[in-house]
Amino acid sequence: MAQLNSPLDILKILPKTNCRDCGEATCMVFAVAVKQGKKKLNQCPHLGDDLLSQFQVEADSVNQGEEDFLRKLNQQRAKIKEIDDLLGRAEPMGAEIKNGKLAVKVLGKEFLLDKDANMASQCHMNLWVQRPILDYAVFCQGVEPTGKWVSMRDLGKDGAEWANFFSKRCEEPLKKLADDYTDLFEFMVEIFNAKRAQEFDADIAVELRPLPKVPMLICYWREDGEMGSQLNLFFDEVTPKNLPVDCIFTLCTGMMIMFEKIAQTHGK
Ligand code: SF4
Repeated sequence: MAQLNSPLDILKILPKTNCRDCGEATCMVFAVAVKQGKKKLNQCPHLGDDLLSQFQVEADSVNQGEEDFLRKLNQQRAKIKEIDDLLGRAEPMGAEIKNGKLAVKVLGKEFLLDKDANMASQCHMNLWVQRPILDYAVFCQGVEPTGKWVSMRDLGKDGAEWANFFSKRCEEPLKKLADDYTDLFEFMVEIFNAKRAQEFDADIAVELRPLPKVPMLICYWREDGEMGSQLNLFFDEVTPKNLPVDCIFTLCTGMMIMFEKIAQTHGK
């Protein structure tokens, strides 16, 4: 019996029709749920017994996702320690050097990173912030954003693979938040240095800088008659050269969770 080790392995044997008969929005979301142990493979009604008997999935334990996250975080810390000239990374990253440390702006707030991969900030130090900063320090090629905005789906092969999952986990919850909390975009402008972007065909458009060379555009269209509201995130076309796509997903998910907490505490 063949073992399916990842969501992509699982996706390969699914019909990929996104019919939703399993209760999930897409086959990709179903595949992730199976890997996480939240769904069983046979809950896709379109897989015959013959096929099901050929494969098995080793589902993640409940804390597997968290364990994986921490393991990757530690791997990135080890890579930071191996960089001979960490301060030399300041220029490509668009960071500064302060007291012998890299000073990186995340949503306008400063985070300090030293050569032993220690991080400090006056802000609350969420894990979701730490991993993108470490990835950015290791990976960023220093490519200047061009100002051409594209969707996740258009961020190369990796972007296309992550697009449906990204939409489900980031854009949909953020749209719901924008529907429910009318002050959400004011928070972004006031607290996180977001800039209003007038030139886009959206009711509200704001540009954020989660990392110096990783800009992000949020466009929101209010409900209009029979048309429901809509929210889309856009990235500069060069973003994958400065941050891997899976880390863009981590960054956006973390931001969405943070906005959710802030809106619940202060929103209307
Ligand atoms: S029921 Fe099967 S084919 Fe349909 S969306 Fe779910 S996984 Fe995909």
